Amino acid sequence: MATGQQVAQPPADVPVPYTVTAAGLAAVAPAVRPGYRLVPVLVGRSTEPGTVAWVECPDWCIVHSPDRPTDKVGFLEDINHQGERAAMNFVPSRGDRVPVEVYLSQWPALDDEDRGQTYLAVDLDYEVCSYGRTAALSLADQMVAFAADVTRLAETLPDDSPTATVRSQADEALRRVREGGGR
Ligand SMILES: [Zn+2]
Repeated sequence: MATGQQVAQPPADVPVPYTVTAAGLAAVAPAVRPGYRLVPVLVGRSTEPGTVAWVECPDWCIVHSPDRPTDKVGFLEDINHQGERAAMNFVPSRGDRVPVEVYLSQWPALDDEDRGQTYLAVDLDYEVCSYGRTAALSLADQMVAFAADVTRLAETLPDDSPTATVRSQADEALRRVREGGGR
């Protein structure tokens, strides 16, 4: 191999090569695909010390670290890679709403229809929706159109910026001086 690195390709039906070992962090882990790194994850029930599983983790994941195991999960299926969150804050009239958040998400070992697929998670507080690329881009288009509507409506409002307020006060003072001077 030109890079000198040993690259072991995982079998096609195994989306996430992982190695569960009781030997700890020194365990030999399988080589990883480009864009991924191996991270240690503690797996086990809360009453057990847990075992270290070496899991392929995408570079965008901020939950896991190659340097130390993250908080223990009960099962491999509970491992969830999550990217950095972007939040949209609506000012609530009551305090029971949290921001709408979006982030990349992947459940590498969950055996469902999106097995191992990365998707955009849209966290609406009471529900987390998952969007594939096409749906996520369509959502983004809707938000751009929504933002344009917000801008269009906002621009019909009177200017209330601090400079505008100062300017209108200055204009008012000048008008009074002029009116006063004209008499
Ligand atoms: Zn991760």
